[in-house]
Amino acid sequence: MVKFHYERPSLNRKNELISFLDEFVKYKSAINGSGGMDKIYARDHYGCRICGRSGNQDFLEIDHIKPISKGGKSTYDNLQTLCRRCNKEKGDTYYN
Ligand SMILES: [Zn+2]
Repeated sequence: MVKFHYERPSLNRKNELISFLDEFVKYKSAINGSGGMDKIYARDHYGCRICGRSGNQDFLEIDHIKPISKGGKSTYDNLQTLCRRCNKEKGDTYYN
């Protein structure tokens, strides 16, 4: 008989995963509901709102202006275009 060993995720981790998935779904639907990612990119002129660099969409990411961890919502007004580098540096910082 084959025994599977696995570590049971703690309740905390499970909740984290659930809220992550929940936010992900909201994020996707907010983006779709607001006309899709193209609309956010177009509003921001296909450029990073921090450093101003522009590029193709592989290089750009959609960022939460106010991070979800600080109560930010996945709405059109709270989403912005950032380049991958600025998004990484920004992390959970909330400039405002
Ligand atoms: Zn940038």
